[in-house]
Amino acid sequence: LSRNPGETEFHQAVREVLDSIGPAVDKHPEYADARIVERICEPERQIIFRVPWEDDHGGIHINRGFRVEFNSALGPYKGGLRFHPSVLLGTVKFLGFEQVFKNALTGLPIGGGKGGSDFDPRGRSDREVMRFCQSFMLELYRHIGEYTDVPAGDMGVGGRELGYLFGQYKRITNRYESAVLTGKGLIYGGAQVRREATGYGSAFFVEEMLQVRGDSLAGKDVVVSGSGNVAIYTVEKVHQLGGRVVACSDSDGFVHDPSGIDLDLLKDVKEVRRERIRAYADKAPGATFVEGGSIWEVPCRVALPSATQNELDAAGAAALVRNGCVAVGEGANMPTTPGAVRVLLEAGVAFGPGKAANAGGVAASALEMQQNASRDSWTFEYSEARLREIMRDIHARCHATAEEYGVPGNYVAGANIAGYARVAEAMLALGLI
Ligand code: NDP
Repeated sequence: LSRNPGETEFHQAVREVLDSIGPAVDKHPEYADARIVERICEPERQIIFRVPWEDDHGGIHINRGFRVEFNSALGPYKGGLRFHPSVLLGTVKFLGFEQVFKNALTGLPIGGGKGGSDFDPRGRSDREVMRFCQSFMLELYRHIGEYTDVPAGDMGVGGRELGYLFGQYKRITNRYESAVLTGKGLIYGGAQVRREATGYGSAFFVEEMLQVRGDSLAGKDVVVSGSGNVAIYTVEKVHQLGGRVVACSDSDGFVHDPSGIDLDLLKDVKEVRRERIRAYADKAPGATFVEGGSIWEVPCRVALPSATQNELDAAGAAALVRNGCVAVGEGANMPTTPGAVRVLLEAGVAFGPGKAANAGGVAASALEMQQNASRDSWTFEYSEARLREIMRDIHARCHATAEEYGVPGNYVAGANIAGYARVAEAMLALGLI
């Protein structure tokens, strides 16, 4: 803690992993001998840089850019870029740390990293966003590459931003290096199902958890927080699997639509018009907008926190349990506080941690890299089938590991131990580097 002062989210993420990997460390004394725990908590490289840019009125702004290249034992650093005013070094480190284990769990050859900036794209014109992205890439390009570090999107970085980032990378380097970024548009090297993958994957993961209990999403009311990339495609897949999403949100509040969220309207409001979520309630008969309220008070059988870190606290978890919730899957990274996780586990709720439940996005990114490398592009159906298979495997790996280590049904322990063991084995094999 004293080496990383003030990085509270990073401390929280590290503590959560260290709390559950004890049995794996006991079983493998060679990990302790090689000081894997100490090495795994220390990023291989951290880059912080100035990002100056000019707004539409000639005003000058200075933001801070980050890229934390956390661990490359399993492959090139891989992980998204987040543009949000709350981004600090500790935020990027927590996300990068989580990414190392998540990527290991996918079984694919990718290391972990994360980056971003405290730039806020909300309310900015397309031209301002473009100028920011170009300035950001003017430094980032030195550190990334198909075999080195492959960023993608995250909060505030979607198709528009990735397009500007890729365009600037191509211009600076004079290389059409498709696999340097993932989440690209389909017209310039993107892959089918990447946009949908995190949301689809988290619905698939929850369906797997429910099936173990002889249950399914069909016929269940579901709450999905957020209304961004992950939330929208979670809603889409939950509906396809027979569930009904009755609420979603943004940082202003939540909408409750008891007859089920109208997906076309949601996409129109958020993806086409880029409006706030309250605009959905203005246009959907029967829907209400609750400003500043807790979405977790809305009765549901399944909850999928898909907005941001620490959005589901112990009081929210208690409300879910009280209303009969049976499963929670983390679409976002670390959205559930440690206190809330305790409430859910003690109540016997099936709980899918983000490292496992939202790994579909990065898995599809690895498939995008594979298609770019072979100059191929797969169909939507084939890509979705691959994603479903990967999510099934991740679920099975977490479930089996939890059983093996004597904590059956505890996916937090299962995910942390399975991810840790894979990275630790690779680090041992590579020697002291
Ligand atoms: P987006 O920027 O597309 O959407 C984020 C959504 O969360 C927005 O609706 C935003 O609303 C909302 N939000 C932010 N803060 C809060 C808050 N305090 N309370 C309620 N809502 C809030 O991001 P993504 O959908 O891409 O990412 C969401 C989460 O999923 C993040 O934790 C991200 O790290 C994680 N994730 C994303 C992946 C991906 O492939 N995109 C992959 C794996 C994980 P507002 O407009 O008000 O800010």
